[in-house]
Amino acid sequence: MIHLLFGPPGAGKGTQSDLLKVRLGAVHLSTGDLFRAAIKGGTALGKEAKSYMDAGKLVPDSVTIGLVREKLQGNTVQMVILDGFPRNVSQAEALDQMLIEIGVSLGKAVFLDVPKNVLLERLSGRRVCAGCGAVYHAKASPPKVPNVCDKCGGKVDQRIDDREEAVATRLEVYESSTSPLRDFYLKREVLERVDGLGTSEEVFRRIEKVF
Ligand code: AMP
Repeated sequence: MIHLLFGPPGAGKGTQSDLLKVRLGAVHLSTGDLFRAAIKGGTALGKEAKSYMDAGKLVPDSVTIGLVREKLQGNTVQMVILDGFPRNVSQAEALDQMLIEIGVSLGKAVFLDVPKNVLLERLSGRRVCAGCGAVYHAKASPPKVPNVCDKCGGKVDQRIDDREEAVATRLEVYESSTSPLRDFYLKREVLERVDGLGTSEEVFRRIEKVF
């Protein structure tokens, strides 16, 4: 069964997907992580995605849909959490088609709801380890040694797309392209709104109840 986690940038999709992976044994499929790995690896996909990502824009559907289709094939047994896909209605329609092709049904579409002022606070302070991907917050949970990852000793830095102009674009893109998915999944009767405020444990317990 495939479940979706969607919401604005900074809602906590990555954190919650990681918890679902560790605690419920789900397969975590994040398009953002796939693109970041491709950029790190210097692949053709990474080169294509980088300029869109750095500017906070969506990578074209033609690239993104193909990538997800490739990753979903063969994953028909386990619970899969799709994080960051779909991000617009045409991707959602493409996903419907893919699910028919692989004979898997859609479980819940969990919308993580977080108000804009909190998103801005989270995104402006977010710092990420370039080595292992561990996430910190400059004020709320900085690494013990400034800019050095507690877990792997890697360099902790701000994501290019967490800088101010890119964040403004990402929030606009969210409003215009991704937010209509709430109606899309409401009509399919799979939408679950989850309050994304509070500690990651509190939010996780709410999501766990939905599943
Ligand atoms: P995320 O890590 O989910 O915040 O995604 C980071 C960036 O990757 C986004 O701002 C987009 O540039 C790109 N991206 C991730 N998922 C998608 C998607 N489904 N469609 C298009 N672009 C995406």
